[in-house]
Amino acid sequence: MPTHTSSIPTELRIIPRDQHPISRRGISPNALRVLYRLHEAGHRACLVGGAVRDLLAGLAPKDFDVATDATPEEVRHLFRNCRLIGRRFRLAHVVFGREIIEVATFRANIDDGSGDRQVHDDGRLLRDNVYGSIEDDAVRRDFTANALYYDIADFSVRDYVGGFEDVTHRVMRLIGDPETRYREDPVRMLRAIRLAGKLGFDIAEDTAAPLPGLAPLLSEAAPARLFEECLKMFLSGHAVASFEGLERHGLLAALFPETAAALASNRSGALRRMLVEGLRGTDRRVAMDEPVSPAFLFAVLLWPAYCRSLMALQAQGLHTVEAERRAADRVTLHQLSTIALPRRFSLPMQEIWLMQARFSQRQRKRVVRTLSHPRFRAAFDFLVLRRAASPAHEDDIAFWQEAQGDPDMAIAHQADPGISDGADGEVPRKRRRRRRRHAAGE
Ligand code: ATP
Ligand code: MG
Repeated sequence: MPTHTSSIPTELRIIPRDQHPISRRGISPNALRVLYRLHEAGHRACLVGGAVRDLLAGLAPKDFDVATDATPEEVRHLFRNCRLIGRRFRLAHVVFGREIIEVATFRANIDDGSGDRQVHDDGRLLRDNVYGSIEDDAVRRDFTANALYYDIADFSVRDYVGGFEDVTHRVMRLIGDPETRYREDPVRMLRAIRLAGKLGFDIAEDTAAPLPGLAPLLSEAAPARLFEECLKMFLSGHAVASFEGLERHGLLAALFPETAAALASNRSGALRRMLVEGLRGTDRRVAMDEPVSPAFLFAVLLWPAYCRSLMALQAQGLHTVEAERRAADRVTLHQLSTIALPRRFSLPMQEIWLMQARFSQRQRKRVVRTLSHPRFRAAFDFLVLRRAASPAHEDDIAFWQEAQGDPDMAIAHQADPGISDGADGEVPRKRRRRRRRHAAGE
């Protein structure tokens, strides 16, 4: 079947070693080993994709992919530490301890990202891919910046679609007709936002223009793939840039419909402030190499939706505790139709939300129980985050900060008797006011 990419014109430009900044010092020694061995065996061997793009943009690549005219079987015969993966389109993985160099044979036709293992794992129907020339391989890629080849034969960069110039001008541009390419694979819309955010690139005008109109196509993408793409967008150190990009290009509502609706109706902007602050914290942690959890991330991303749902349920007269539980379930369930958030993340996410109400309790038994809850740390960090939305949480933050060291001291320090719940569970007036603010997400 002829595909769109076969009609995309190419024009080869070779950028010699002395006219580009890529040095072998920036390339993983294992990737170089693979490139040299293929080359010495008489094959064409190039570094390709994100690694070439990142090196040209002055970033350290997170992995190194190799493209070659050797078939996977030929690759396997050259490397002892090689395994072949993929069913319809086979890829070679050359394994060096924890580093895997992915070696792909030049291929033709469109790519729906199916070279990725996670797409295979979805069981999604894969399109037929056939081996092709290096030109075919270039035009089936998504962005011009991703279609550059660093050739180990002469250390030149080979550019078939104008990617070198685009990287120089810091522009993300789709190869071919943008609308056609988004329709082939809607996840490319998210890749545009994510890569522009990561690299600090602009999105070319004709690449950006179709985004708001095509946003609904995202609902056709596999929810598991959207989950993976979300992790890449928000847990790679560029969460704020990704979020702002989604907003700017009209994609937020397609990915997080209920959060988008809640943000739109929250006139004070408190919910958005808190969400962005949460993403900023995530970016800081990634920058400092600290662990980040998808559960906490999604607790942040869906908190506006949770608050909105909670308010609606309370307005229907539901008791707070019941309303909280139902709001958490409802928001999770609705979001699952777009993004396949696995239960091992959605359950702790819900716990983080449901624990927020516990932070206003001062009864000794409850305080001790809250402190020993396995989700205490994450829930407390979340409470601290809510300060970005409202100063109303200062008292609670101070209390729980102290309670972590000495719960009895913290309780004794509660000078204002109005703060503690009565033994009979009667909620004092001040408390009630605060609960309403909590429901409003502030
Ligand atoms: P990073 O690894 O920094 O997230 P990347 O560009 O390397 O970015 P990968 O998902 O590793 O992203 O993909 C490797 C290469 O495969 C890309 O550079 C691109 O050339 C090609 N590619 C990936 N996804 C698609 C897609 N959906 N459509 C077309 N080509 C794609
Ligand atoms: Mg990559």
